[in-house]
Amino acid sequence: MSLLLPKASGESLTLGIMGGTFDPIHIGHLVTAEEARQQFKLDHVIFIPAGTPPHKDEKTISSAEHRYLMSMLAVVDNPYFTVSRLEIESKHPSYTVDTVRRFFEIYQEKLNLYFITGADAILDITTWKDYKELLEACSFIAASRPGYSFSKLKIILGPAFPHIIKKVHLLEIPAMAISSTYIRRRIAEGKTIKYLTPEPVEQYIYKNRLYIR
Ligand code: NAP
Repeated sequence: MSLLLPKASGESLTLGIMGGTFDPIHIGHLVTAEEARQQFKLDHVIFIPAGTPPHKDEKTISSAEHRYLMSMLAVVDNPYFTVSRLEIESKHPSYTVDTVRRFFEIYQEKLNLYFITGADAILDITTWKDYKELLEACSFIAASRPGYSFSKLKIILGPAFPHIIKKVHLLEIPAMAISSTYIRRRIAEGKTIKYLTPEPVEQYIYKNRLYIR
């Protein structure tokens, strides 16, 4: 796997996988990852930009390379954060279960894995490839925006899938009031995005003329 990971050793490792499209990465994602790291005592958080998200039209999102480079620029000042090319280098759609399998191939039984993503993405988890295996393999941290109710997840998934609710931890992140959609829209409208994403990411977006209609 071409990524800078803490070395597999005899010690058990608790990792967070931060899965998302990151088009672009923003302050809400970074606050989510840092909060998850602290609350769940994660040794490391690995951001994995999705290569070809299974549920999205490739033509409507920025190239994987742009999304990877913006993620790199965003995490550079945090020693606990890394970005992986695992999914963007894959020729296949980015199924989370394949990513998780790859991590267990490397770390085997010494690994505790948390998959961190948006609560809305997790609402659809029963449509994901081999979701039952995924639920066996890791726990989930569902980041929500202010006002998002955990009862939505419970109502939609709870009755049919009580085992899912047990493995999902909800993290309310005020900074998730920012969204990638909001940033893209502001750029298209010629509005400032200052302080919504780290400055190097902002500069990268302008330099590469991303999100301009
Ligand atoms: P999305 O549908 O673009 O996002 C859904 C919501 O979650 C959005 O509000 C989004 O906000 C938020 N979000 C996404 N990633 C986040 C993160 N890491 N932390 C906090 N909030 C986050 O979802 P996506 O980004 O394409 O997919 C999320 C992850 O689920 C990816 O790793 C993807 O590969 C995985 N997934 C797997 C399958 C499968 O295996 N079959 C299917 C679907 C998704 P922003 O737009 O602001 O990010």
